[in-house]
Amino acid sequence: MGIEVRSRRPEVRIFFYVFCFLSLIFYLPSSAQMSFESFVIDAGHGGYDSGIKGANFSEKEITMSLAKDFANALAGKGKKVLLTRKSDYAISIKERVRIANQGAPDIFISMHISSENTFVIYSLFSDMKNSQSGVTNAKFIKNTAVVKGIAQAINREFKMSVRHEELPIPLIVQIESPALLIEMPRPDKFNYDRKMRERIINAILKGLDV
Ligand SMILES: [Zn+2]
Repeated sequence: MGIEVRSRRPEVRIFFYVFCFLSLIFYLPSSAQMSFESFVIDAGHGGYDSGIKGANFSEKEITMSLAKDFANALAGKGKKVLLTRKSDYAISIKERVRIANQGAPDIFISMHISSENTFVIYSLFSDMKNSQSGVTNAKFIKNTAVVKGIAQAINREFKMSVRHEELPIPLIVQIESPALLIEMPRPDKFNYDRKMRERIINAILKGLDV
């Protein structure tokens, strides 16, 4: 800040520094202060790539149902939404990135199923924020705030802890918008019927303040 503190009285200086500190805290974006108007929703896997498979499920089918329900919920709220795939076909990471960057959404969310009985949110790797990856500091901060908001909302809804992994997944790194990949609990412990999908989506929407 380019403001000079001229007062020699220590209490005035202290007040000034406390004021600056508090301003900074309130300035840092929280998900509540962000407004998400456009989305790209990515259903993980597809076609020959089934993802995780069990006796009665395949990941590609669950992610497709979740992505469609998510898109409908967003459209119902008047949001602009694009899906990277609309049915069961294979689509490369490169193509998913192309669709996301062309759509230039406020946020990109990729949906996957975990091999564990837990929620995991993957977002940017913090050390990359100043590297040559093209990841800007502002984008990193925004991403962190979004992850926190979603993790809290999921935790409240399902009473399950949410792990946050900062991994430089190519899909996330190459997308220019804030991007997340959410892994949801394994289906043999967690049922993905319509009601459950609705609860998951509502928790994510609450976390995004949408
Ligand atoms: Zn997956």
